[in-house]
Amino acid sequence: MKQVPKVIFGRGSFKKLTDVLSGYRKDGYIIFFIDHAHEETGLVNSVPSEEGDLVFVIDTSSHEPKTDQIDKLRDSVLQTKACNLPGLIVGIGGGSTMDISKAVSIMLTNDGSSQLYQGWDLVKNAPIPKMGIPTLSGSGSEASRTAVLSSVDKKYGINSDQSMFDIVMMDPDLLEHVTGSQRFFTGMDCYIHDVEASEGSFINSFGMAYAQQSLELCTKVFLKEGGTNEDLMVASYLGGASVTNSEAGVVHAMSYGISLVLGYRHAIANCIVFRQLEEFYPKHVPVFFKMLELNNIKLPDNVTKSLSDDEMSSMIKMTYRMERPLLSALGENWKDILNEKKLEKIYSKM
Ligand code: NAD
Ligand code: ZN
Repeated sequence: MKQVPKVIFGRGSFKKLTDVLSGYRKDGYIIFFIDHAHEETGLVNSVPSEEGDLVFVIDTSSHEPKTDQIDKLRDSVLQTKACNLPGLIVGIGGGSTMDISKAVSIMLTNDGSSQLYQGWDLVKNAPIPKMGIPTLSGSGSEASRTAVLSSVDKKYGINSDQSMFDIVMMDPDLLEHVTGSQRFFTGMDCYIHDVEASEGSFINSFGMAYAQQSLELCTKVFLKEGGTNEDLMVASYLGGASVTNSEAGVVHAMSYGISLVLGYRHAIANCIVFRQLEEFYPKHVPVFFKMLELNNIKLPDNVTKSLSDDEMSSMIKMTYRMERPLLSALGENWKDILNEKKLEKIYSKM
């Protein structure tokens, strides 16, 4: 399995970004995608852009990455630069901004809409090299082989080795301004990646080592046993690597339905689903309840209460598209174990 070939880790690393980038400038200009939260934190002003570079501040407040958003960004780059391609793309932010940078790196060298590449191993041409700099930990996008995008009727990743970063910089100082609830929700995405990867049948010893270490660090943080932002940042990376070496499971399969139909952000959608899945993850859901309590987090209730029949059936359809995670979690008979009636019953409890 492909790994990120170069990782820079440690407090203060971001200050060395100019030096790191100098090695890539010979290949062309650089595109920076940075989360809009950094207009407030001030990090936008520390981006070492030079003349000819492009800086896009990404507003992630209203929605997570969409295919038409990626296509527009790609078109805008090609138009501004008269089709002159960059030497490097740098994504600075949470899973959304990192996934945008991954997807644009692919779409600058592959024809058509990004919708064409949602699925497994559909990318044809090598992408522009890319660097991920997480400023929110948990998604594991920094270590994963996917860039998750929503289109009109599906939420699906561009699952490909071409989605992996060529270089990742992890500076725990960049997590300083993340709010408590955001830190918790995205942190739980990591916890859930670890649980699903380790409990799934697609796991091997390599992936298990990542998953177990990540689980340990993540619980140390959220059970308040002395875990630090360093621990969380490492947990997120290892969690991404664990899924890359296994698969997601029932939580992600069902949470994609919640996000697609009800618009809940990925990390919250996962939590809404996870608390109903003790039957599938009996060891881990009780720990999750404890973490909710210790971190004073209240999840939204009755989110599926006013769902129409059509919406419920779209959610079920979306879940069934997640064949690989369901196969890993439940085995060959996954469609019998999680039949439509059962899915509807679980969704109705949320
Ligand atoms: P996000 O990137 O959507 O960010 C959530 C919020 O946190 C945003 O409002 C953002 O402005 C804010 N934020 C980010 N950094 C901050 C900082 N340092 N200080 C203050 N605020 C900050 O959240 P996320 O949970 O990291 O990512 C979710 C996205 O990642 C979803 O689209 C999901 O599908 C995707 N995802 C991808 C993978 C993958 O492997 N590629 C895995 C899991 C999830
Ligand atoms: Zn996830």
